[in-house]
Amino acid sequence: MKPSTAMRAAGEAGYAPGVLSGRPLAFVLLAWSLLRIIVKTLTGRVTGLVQFHRNYAAERLAPISKDERLALAQFSSCIACGRCDVGEANRISQSNGEYPGLMQLVLASTRNIPDYDAAARGFAHVPDEELDRKVIRCPVRFPFAQLASFVRKKSSQDGSDHNA
Ligand code: SF4
Repeated sequence: MKPSTAMRAAGEAGYAPGVLSGRPLAFVLLAWSLLRIIVKTLTGRVTGLVQFHRNYAAERLAPISKDERLALAQFSSCIACGRCDVGEANRISQSNGEYPGLMQLVLASTRNIPDYDAAARGFAHVPDEELDRKVIRCPVRFPFAQLASFVRKKSSQDGSDHNA
């Protein structure tokens, strides 16, 4: 069985199984992690956002800013009623698979930032004015245009963008 991150950290901290458990173990692990971060910082080793970019740029996973985190909270209000898909049949059929309908974009296609390229292609099939009109029909007044804008912005970032 593959050891968990906590167990690997415990091993690095010199922990022998059965010696500590519960809060004492948690305290030792947290203290060890803090010590490692301090040493890495003092010795100039890369940590934090720069390390994040190094780890995830290849997957095109861009960090989320504070404002974007607030926006993301708005994007989870959909109750999957399907009303925003009414009248979308033509756009869906003419999109050659790029546009699965608005509800699908809202609920699934925008859940994973590395998939935003595909989501942006989907949104490209719906004019912004139509996105605005859909808000009135949506029972939760979902902010379609804001989500489309968010998706376009994040899909244009390559993950190595340090100003994300
Ligand atoms: S109309 Fe609104 S609540 Fe219904 S599926 Fe579309 S986004 Fe979700």
